[in-house]
Amino acid sequence: MSEPTAEGLKRYPATAGYNVDLASSIPCVCTSTCLVRCAGECGCEACSVQFTTFCETSGRLSALVSTSNAEEEALDAYRRVEVAEPPVIIRRGRFDGR
Ligand SMILES: [Zn+2]
Ligand SMILES: [Zn+2]
Repeated sequence: MSEPTAEGLKRYPATAGYNVDLASSIPCVCTSTCLVRCAGECGCEACSVQFTTFCETSGRLSALVSTSNAEEEALDAYRRVEVAEPPVIIRRGRFDGR
C-alpha cells in the first residue's frame, strides 16, 4: 500500500492522510489537480470510499450504481459540502421506489 500524498494530508488532516471509515485505513493519494472533494476519479481509494460513505449516509444509495443519474446528483451534492461531516440532507422520498 502506498503512503498518503501531501494533498492527502490536507484532505484528511485529522488522520494524517488516511480515510479511516473502513476497518483498514486507506491512504489518500490525491494530487493538487484533484477536485476539492475528489470522489476517487483519480484512482484514490480513500476518496472513493468517502464518496460511498457520503452516499450511504445521505440516503443516495442509487447513486452508487454508476449508470444512474443519481450519481451525478450525488457528486454535485458531495462537492458542495465544505466540512468533513456528512450532510443531514436525507432525500428519502426520491429513492423509495428502488
Ligand atoms: Zn483522495
Ligand atoms: Zn483524487
